[in-house]
This record gives sequence, C-alpha cells and structure tokens, in this order.
Amino acid sequence: MRKLSSPTEIARETLKEMATQRLDPTPDHYTDIYHTIANTPDEERLPELAKQIEQALTELPRQSPELGRTLEQLKKANRSSEWSAVPALVIKYIELQGGQSQLTRAWVDLIRDLIRQWDLRNPAYPPSRKSESLERVLIHFGNDPEQLNDKLSGLIRSWGETGTESENSSNGTADNAPLPADTQLSQPASGTPDISGNLVPWQDALSQTLILGLVPRLTHYPDLADEARTFGTRVGGVMQEGDLGLLIAQMKKFWRRLELVNEQEQRLCDGLLNLLRLLTDNMSEIVVEDEHLHGQIAVVQQIMQQPLDMRLIYDAEVGLKEVIYKQSILKKSLLEAQDALKSMIATFIDRLGTLSDSTDHYHGRIATYAEQIQQAHDLEDIQHVMADLLQDTRSMQLDVRRNRDEMMEARSRVNEAEEKIRQLESELREVSEKVREDQMTGALNRRGLEESFDTEAARAQRSGKPLSLALLDIDNFKQLNDQRGHAAGDAALVHLVRVIKDLLRPTDIVARYGGEEFVLLFPETRLPEAIPVLQRLQRELTKRFFMHNNDKVLITFSAGVTEVAPGEHRAGVIERADTAMYRAKKAGKNRVVSTTPGSTSEE
Ligand code: GH3
Ligand code: MG
Ligand code: MG
Repeated sequence: MRKLSSPTEIARETLKEMATQRLDPTPDHYTDIYHTIANTPDEERLPELAKQIEQALTELPRQSPELGRTLEQLKKANRSSEWSAVPALVIKYIELQGGQSQLTRAWVDLIRDLIRQWDLRNPAYPPSRKSESLERVLIHFGNDPEQLNDKLSGLIRSWGETGTESENSSNGTADNAPLPADTQLSQPASGTPDISGNLVPWQDALSQTLILGLVPRLTHYPDLADEARTFGTRVGGVMQEGDLGLLIAQMKKFWRRLELVNEQEQRLCDGLLNLLRLLTDNMSEIVVEDEHLHGQIAVVQQIMQQPLDMRLIYDAEVGLKEVIYKQSILKKSLLEAQDALKSMIATFIDRLGTLSDSTDHYHGRIATYAEQIQQAHDLEDIQHVMADLLQDTRSMQLDVRRNRDEMMEARSRVNEAEEKIRQLESELREVSEKVREDQMTGALNRRGLEESFDTEAARAQRSGKPLSLALLDIDNFKQLNDQRGHAAGDAALVHLVRVIKDLLRPTDIVARYGGEEFVLLFPETRLPEAIPVLQRLQRELTKRFFMHNNDKVLITFSAGVTEVAPGEHRAGVIERADTAMYRAKKAGKNRVVSTTPGSTSEE
C-alpha cells in the first residue's frame, strides 16, 4: 500500500475501504480502518480516556514486584477495553499499597532525596564513603525492591547526619569518641528517627572496629587475630536473619575466648610486676654495699608504686641507659684497681713469708752457736763461732731491712690503690645519683626531692629534730627570657643554684621543683632560723650578680617558707609553702613569707 501522509488522503482512503468491505458507517469502524491505513502505533489508537488512564497508571507507585505486575494487568485491560477485569485489579492494587504504605516510601521521593543528599557536602560523609555504601546496598539488596527501598532510606538519613549533630544528640556518639561505660542503648524516643533499618553504617563500624581495632591487639594470638579478621569481613555480607543468628553465635564463642586471653594477660602482667617488685626489694637489701645500684633500683621501685605510665617508663629507661653506660666505664677502672690491690697484697704476704723464713733460720743458727759456745774449749773456738754469728746477724739484718723496705713500698701502693678504689666508688655513686638530678642546674630533680624529703622527714621524726622547707620562684623570669633570650634564662638558673649551694650548709638540700621554681630543705632547722637563711640568700644575690653580655643582671625571688609537722605528707607541706610564696608575689615580690600550719606572716 502506498504510504499516505495527509489526514485528508487517509480519510478518503478510509471511506473507500469501508465501502469495499461493506462495513456499517459507524465511528468505531471508521477509526479502526483510519488507524490501520495511517499505521498508527497501538498506544496512539487508544481513545482519549484510555490514554489518560494509561498515563495515570505509569505515575502510580510500584515499589514491589507485585504492585508492578498489578499495574501491568490494569494497563492491558485498559488497552483491550476489558473493563470487567478492571475493578478487581484496582481493588487488588489498593490493598497491596495499603499493606505497604507503612513500610515503604514512594520511589520518586526516595530518588529525589537520594540525589539531594548525594549533592550535599557533608564532612562526616565524604563522596567516596557515600559511593562505597551505596554500592554495598545495591549489591546486597538490589534484587529485593522492598528491602532496597528500606536500606536506601536509611542510607539517605545517615548521609544527612553531620558529626556535630551526632555528637550533640542525646544518645548519639561521634565516630571516634569512646562510648562511656554506662551508655545504654535506649529505645528510640518518639520524634527520634528510627535507625533500625540503617544497617550498613552499623556493619561498617563493627567491621572497622574488628579489623582496625581488635586485630592489631592480637599479634601474639595469630589464631584469634585471623578469626577477628574473618568476622570483620563477614559482617558486611550478613543479609538474612539466619546469617545474623549464625554470626552472633560464633562471635559469642569468640569473645569468650577473648575474655580468657584478657584474664591471662592481666595475670601475666600482675605476675611480672610482682616478680620485679620482689627482685628490686631484695636487691635493695642485698646490695647495701653497692650504693651505685640504689639510684637505679629506686627509680624502678618508684615506677611500680603508681599506675603504670608509658611516659614515666620511657623517661626512666633513658635515664638508666645513660647511667648504666657511665657506670660500665667506671666499673672497668674499678676492677683494674681492685686487681692491682690484690696483686700487691699477694706480694706483701710473700715478703712476710720470706721474712719469717729468714728469722726462723737465724733462730736455728743462734741455738747452734749457743751450743758451740758452751762446748768451746778455747778462745779461738769462740772467736770462730762469734765470727759466724756476726756474719749471720749481718745478713739477717740485711734481709730484714730489704723486706721492710719492700713491705713499706707495697703498703704505700696498697694505700694508693685503696684511695683509687674509694674515688671510683664515689664517682659511681655520683653517677647513680644523676638519676635524681636536674641535668641543667645540678640541683635535685623532682624525683630526687621526693626521695630526700621522705628520708629527711623520717629522720626528723625519728630524732625529734625540726625540718623546714622553702619554695622559691624567680621574679619576672619571663621578662628576663624575653629580653635576653632563653639561653640567658638557663644560665641565670644555673647561677642561682650555684649561689644557693655556696651559701647553704652541705646538709641542706636544693631541688628544682618546676621551670624557675626551687624547693630548699633545711634539716635540723626551725622556721625562725630558716627565714634569715633565705634573707641572706636574697642579699647574696644583690652582691653576686648574674652576668650577661657584661651586664649585671639582678635576680630576685619570692619565697614561701614553712616547717614540716611530724608525719606530715610532702604534698601538704609544699602546698603550704606555695600559698605563702603566692602571697609574697601578691605583696610585691622579692620577699619571704613564712607560714605555719596555723598562720601566715610576711617577713
Ligand atoms: P612571676 O614574678 O609572677 O613569677 O613572673 P614570671 O615571669 O617569673 O612567671 P611566669 O610563670 O609567668 O613565667 C615563668 C617563665 O619561666 C615562663 C617560662 O618560659 C620560663 N621558664 C621555665 N622553665 C625555664 C627554663 O628551663 N629555662 C628558661 N630559660 N626559662 C624557663
Ligand atoms: Mg613560676
Ligand atoms: Mg616566676
């Protein structure tokens, strides 16, 4: 058939065809023949109402396969004008929709939301994380439109949450903030979004916790580490109730084994600590002689007295390594000196032996000569005996003198060696003491102060003698640093400690308490005697200036001074002195304020 394009031609051709087929001239026949000739597609042949209905059907939500199928059947009935089938189909659609409307959202809205949230910037949910979680939802739930709708809704909600929102929300917690121990998972309050459908972020979090948090802690238990890794990977694939049940059952067994391991580790740690404590306690008793060890043992004991702290352990390790190195050098010299001493004592004993041998020999000869004299018949005989005796006596004298000289020499060498050993031992002791010293100023450090305070306080309590303590803080030290540089500040601290040490008695103790704060301990000193010592120190500083670049720099300090009450704890005493020092600052600096547990007065 020739292809006709104009509607008039088609209409003419239609009438001819109706005549040829002898059809009744009804509108339906006309329309039918007209579309056949014009080759109109099926959907355009529909009457206007049917077209409208079909259009409406495409816009109706079809979020489940069942709904989709029902709409397709309606469409078919509409096209083929099977109106009798339509009411049942419409009712079926409405019922299906009614059952689902509580659980699902219209796809159109959902996609609109998805696109909006995708475009919105959220630092808590960067695009890479969004695409990752979307992909996971599509992989796991793509075949189940109902679940897919649900999961996507959850995803969109979580993309919309910001880190701050979750931090501020009543039971929400920031990504990496630890949950408080007493946090309970509460029932969602009315108005709070229900997160039960939002499974993927949960799975992500659990998986990361297992793989990134737990696995590295299990390096000594490769089996458990592997298991934790496997659980971490499996979590993401759990889609069915059954899978979840199985996983939880297996994880329960797993964490019971973890609990056992934890208990075991705790016991191990406690055991090791006890062992170390036992060892150091015994060592400090056994090595009373070996004073150079005391410093190190004290450090280890101190660390064990408080909760284990990595920073303290690290500091102690650095200090001990330095001391051990220096001691190893000194110890070598000490051993050499001891060897020399031993060999000298051996010589000494040797000489003593020779001496007694020769005197024994001499005594024997004398007895023989005495006998010969008794039996002598004439003077000549006696003269012979006398000559022999004289000879023996002379050689014995020589022997004795030689031995005496050698012994004298040996003794002086022994003295020298002993002196050397004493010196080395004192050096060893000093090196050990360094653990207690502030490297820059040579004053005791805080650790040294604590030990000295405890020793002195115990001594004071035993002997019933007083003990005073002062806390010094340099005035305007920041200004000195700012004007002359930090190195000048350091030098000023060294200068101050030198002046303090020169002025104080050897039994007094100076310790660096903080940056530019010092604590002085005055054993056997009452408060009224301690105050003038500090005032003398103030005067001394006005004579012995700190020199910087040929400038005389005056260092002043404010001090609080107090007496230690019997049995009083260190912290309380220092706090009291600190309060007094603070009053000295408030009163204009460069002064000493004394305080007793009951009162405070300015000097
Ligand atoms: P005040 O008279 O009230 O005590 O004033 P100040 O400036 O002495 O006290 P502040 O506490 O404000 O400043 C103390 C300064 O001491 C701050 C710090 O930089 C400095 N400092 C602390 N330790 C050291 C150190 O080891 N060397 C040097 N050069 N400066 C230190
Ligand atoms: Mg200060
Ligand atoms: Mg200061």
